[in-house]
Amino acid sequence: MISAPVQSSISFGTAKAAPGQVAIGELPIAVAMDGREVTIPIAVVHGLRPGPTVLVEGGLHGIEIATVEICRRLKDEVDPAQLAGTLVLAPQVNPWAFLASSRFTPQDAQDMNRVFPGSAGGTLSHQVARVITRELLDRADVVIDCHSCNPPSLYFTIVGEEGNAETRQRSVDLAKAFGYPVVLANTAYSGTLSGYCLQQGKPTITPEFVFSRRFDPVSIATGVAGVRNVLRHLDMLSDQHEPIEVPRPFTEVRTYRSIGATRGGYCFFGLECGQSVKQGETVATLRDCWGTELERIVAPHDGIIIAFPLQGNQAAGTGDKIAYIAYRTGNEP
Ligand SMILES: [Zn+2]
Repeated sequence: MISAPVQSSISFGTAKAAPGQVAIGELPIAVAMDGREVTIPIAVVHGLRPGPTVLVEGGLHGIEIATVEICRRLKDEVDPAQLAGTLVLAPQVNPWAFLASSRFTPQDAQDMNRVFPGSAGGTLSHQVARVITRELLDRADVVIDCHSCNPPSLYFTIVGEEGNAETRQRSVDLAKAFGYPVVLANTAYSGTLSGYCLQQGKPTITPEFVFSRRFDPVSIATGVAGVRNVLRHLDMLSDQHEPIEVPRPFTEVRTYRSIGATRGGYCFFGLECGQSVKQGETVATLRDCWGTELERIVAPHDGIIIAFPLQGNQAAGTGDKIAYIAYRTGNEP
């Protein structure tokens, strides 16, 4: 059955698109100390036919910039005449962290992905999260929450453990449609954007691109194709699914956990991302600058190394994450 065309335009911030149009604009999110409004860029691709609203957002962490180029290409390449529903693109939602080349919001030292859904009386990150929640998340049916792992890492998509079983299953189906290996989160952080959306019953996936701070060509090409695959899965586009090729993929849905340092030192990896690891096998060794071994990081269970997500230099202090390991679901430590 051919559905009736969409009649009305739609607005996100100042981006107002009539059916069959693409619009760009800005969403005010705060006011700076000099009294000037702070805005984030928004694009809206508004289909001719009715359908869901899919939000692609990124840049919660200011060093993760791949979403900027992915959204630029989606804005140019998704044809609203062929689209059922609406695609909303918000590639840079934490401009302060971006300007500081930091994961965190400098003004309040917050990780903006730990403060959702935000609060009216909180610090900058909390108040901005509240605006993003109201203006973007609560108006979307499906959310693609883009991040980039620190290198080295595989390409993978995370589905959080919040929300009910149906929402999580719909999210896993979307993650499979996207095309990267899929891992379930088993280390709940409170206040994540994806956790909030899942709790609202909104299917949500978190693709992890590689190389924070860089426009990695494979991340961008597969990110664009992956979003289009999600749109196809939702019957918003009717053309062919695009197969995605990334290094060292795995097909079964696994569950991942991070393992961290209990001491500290310069970090030497014992394995490469994508390699299988056996319980008790050395994942990394921490040494002082003259080579004295300070700690040996071993795998608590058999699995696959999917990332060494060290946040700064190739070194770790007590409590820092060393590796993400993807275990067989139900067999994680
Ligand atoms: Zn991130």
